[in-house]
Amino acid sequence: MTADTCEEAGSREKATFAFPFLDLSHQFESIQDELESSVLRVLRSQRFILGHEVEAFEAEIAAWNSSRAAIACASGSDAVLLALMALDVAPGDEVITTPFTFVATGTAITRLGATPVFADIEPGAFNLDPTQVESAITRRTRAIIPVHLFGCPADLAPIIAIAEANSIPVIEDAAQAIGAKYRGRQIGTIGQIGCFSFYPTKNLGCAGDGGLVVTNDEQLTERLRILHVHGSRTRYSYDVIGINSRLDALQAAILRVKLPHLDDWTRARRRNADQYSRLFSKYSLDSHVRLPKAPDYAHHVYNQFTIRTSDRDRLRAYLRDSGIPTEIYYPFPLHLEPAFSYLGKKPGDYPEAERAPREVLSLPIYPGLSIEHQMQVVEAIARFYGK
Ligand SMILES: *Cc1c(COP(=O)(O)O)cnc(C)c1O
Repeated sequence: MTADTCEEAGSREKATFAFPFLDLSHQFESIQDELESSVLRVLRSQRFILGHEVEAFEAEIAAWNSSRAAIACASGSDAVLLALMALDVAPGDEVITTPFTFVATGTAITRLGATPVFADIEPGAFNLDPTQVESAITRRTRAIIPVHLFGCPADLAPIIAIAEANSIPVIEDAAQAIGAKYRGRQIGTIGQIGCFSFYPTKNLGCAGDGGLVVTNDEQLTERLRILHVHGSRTRYSYDVIGINSRLDALQAAILRVKLPHLDDWTRARRRNADQYSRLFSKYSLDSHVRLPKAPDYAHHVYNQFTIRTSDRDRLRAYLRDSGIPTEIYYPFPLHLEPAFSYLGKKPGDYPEAERAPREVLSLPIYPGLSIEHQMQVVEAIARFYGK
């Protein structure tokens, strides 16, 4: 996971960094024996699709986050797609979501022939602004998808209140936020369906692609179970149009080893976030840099530690020259991406979602990151500002 994050798209020279933006080797080394034996177990069983490993993983993760049912699938992108399919979203329908998210939130809507309807974000945690949602609702609205960006829960209560008043289901895109809590409740289990990703950079990552949908609704459970295996309840009998989106047994076996460690890894991310705050507080940078701050309803799991500054591009170049890796999630809001130009949106339509991509900068935050590296990051930022 280090090689591709070290090379900035479009840059002529490859920068050399003092340490990687994301380093999963620390995590791997701590559970290497268990991982290797579980991969071997699957290999020797010669059962690769669904079966015991996947069922056991689904039961374990449903128990872990207290959801009635967990259905594993091939990716987080498919999780969002399956959630929309389970709700019968179809051509002509509209789905409200944030324009400041990973592209898959939006493309899942488009793939079903439905129209993404964006609502602006709040500038604090970069999440869907509940006050912008109501005016986006029309009689065609079939779902609302808040995204818990960077691991920080969106303000779900007001969003769900608006949704319920209009009988519209809520799908949580929790791909970046596994283990986060909203007012004490596990993220992903609060809306009708929650979507997770096990892409390796997520807080719980497998060794490739993987995803999960969770729900407490019996009918939705039934639909999701069918939809991800070709719409089939019993072999070679197809009740509805489904897709092929299964988690591999190998990935399930790996995730079963990792899941019991997730809480520790989350604690380490939160500790690193606290350490950044303490380190930053030694310099007077408040007028230059805004640190992420979890709203009081949020238990933030810091998939990213994203600061905000009006000098972003110059700061980032300075940090690169100082050997400090950073990333920009995301450089453009979805409504200004070419893929969504067909929606006819213009600059100025969602001001906060347009300002954030110019100002955000994500700093390394992975669980094995050392305090020394965090000090290097903060000292370099302080130096840039002449402190
Ligand atoms: C990663 C991500 C997805 C898609 O997950 P994949 O497993 O990469 O397909 C969807 N939504 C958000 C917000 C994500 O961060």
